[in-house]
Amino acid sequence: MCNPNNQGHIMIIGIDDTDSREGMCTTYLGALLMEELKQYGNIQKHPFLVRLNPTIPYKTRGNASIAIVIETVHSDKVIAYVISRISTMAAMECEMTNPGVVFIHDHERELIKEVLCTFFLKAVRDVIAIEEAKTIISKFGLHSRGFKNGRGLIGALAACGAVLNPDWDQTFEYLAYRQKEKWGTPRNVDKRSFFIADNATYPATWDTVDISNRVVVCVPHSPDPVLYGIRGENPDIVKKAAEMIVSEPIERSCIYRTNQGTDQHLISIGSISEMKEMHSYIVAGFVSNDPFTIAGGHTFFSISDGSGVSLDCAAFEPTKNFRSLIRRLIKGDFVKVYGSYLNNTLNIEKMEILYVAPLVVSHNPDCPSCGKRMESAGRDQGYRCRKCGTRSSTLVHKKIKRDIEPGIYEVPPCARRHLAKPLIRLREQSAKIFPSR
Ligand code: ATP
Repeated sequence: MCNPNNQGHIMIIGIDDTDSREGMCTTYLGALLMEELKQYGNIQKHPFLVRLNPTIPYKTRGNASIAIVIETVHSDKVIAYVISRISTMAAMECEMTNPGVVFIHDHERELIKEVLCTFFLKAVRDVIAIEEAKTIISKFGLHSRGFKNGRGLIGALAACGAVLNPDWDQTFEYLAYRQKEKWGTPRNVDKRSFFIADNATYPATWDTVDISNRVVVCVPHSPDPVLYGIRGENPDIVKKAAEMIVSEPIERSCIYRTNQGTDQHLISIGSISEMKEMHSYIVAGFVSNDPFTIAGGHTFFSISDGSGVSLDCAAFEPTKNFRSLIRRLIKGDFVKVYGSYLNNTLNIEKMEILYVAPLVVSHNPDCPSCGKRMESAGRDQGYRCRKCGTRSSTLVHKKIKRDIEPGIYEVPPCARRHLAKPLIRLREQSAKIFPSR
């Protein structure tokens, strides 16, 4: 990034909320700016794409915001250029689109670092009022611009905080964008090539395809400019996978540094009673009612813990085969659930089964003389064989083998949320911490 002929100061540009469901995508604007801002300085290679609280109702799709880092001697020109690009590119006509952009200058970094690092994590895990973002901006005199109600300032500030905080688990995504004339039309991609790319690069890439459901998951269906996105551990591997994709010609691509696949949104808590709406948790409890499935295929069960509060948990229809695991739970199993808490229900992303309760079924005894199943002899009178008259006083209890085992389980890639850490990452990371000998 350092160019001795063009030594300027480093500026962070955080941007959010420029898109609508009908089109555009803040990451596309970021990819354009990565090229267009080159006229003003040197741009750090991989811009930031951060996913914020997945339960926020204002989100268009995946609650993403972006940040670009540039070294420039023309900061005023950069600011004017970015603001004018947002004004023309953002889907302003959409009521839900309220763009925001924040610029952090070199001299502000140290002063604001701690505040913004905290703000970033808060935006991933908590719910923030626009006023809180505006107060930080005015208190520190940050250069910013909010359009319409300015809600995008929340995500824009959070993305700047992500840049200033080096200590989070980072992953990468190669985003390929469609040529403009193709936007809104069906995407022309060779599905087989995604399976080949996945085969060549998994587990260093993930969520390109869903093998068990036989679907490509990295190609969106919305009318936005994204053709596909390959997620992985480092820039080289996502690029390698992308080079194997056969598709319509792309307009441009960009490799973003992200918090996707990291579980950064999850808050570990000791008791269900601590849960608040629109937050995401890891919490443990005993299964307190047997799972049931409603019309539409959504499966529910409840857990409870010592706090006396119970929690409804859901595996919705899109989680496909994961629901068959849920249906095998019984009262008394001890599980740890991971997911977002919305409308009084935890939407499960992962589940760890810690204890499998014994399943005991009871039936009338068999007659010791003639082998026939005995019948009840009347209330509190034990059992009697109809054939030979033999009597018995006790019911027979039989332990049935359960068809689930302790372990950690996840929803399939086709149902994975952007922030949820795939188990393969969890395993690879713990293998690094505890290498096998
Ligand atoms: P896409 O994924 O297509 O880029 P999106 O899903 O990112 O779209 P946005 O259009 O950015 O959705 O809308 C999300 C809005 O919610 C933004 O204005 C953002 O500032 C705001 N927001 C993000 N996180 C929080 C939070 N934790 N609390 C309150 N508001 C938030």
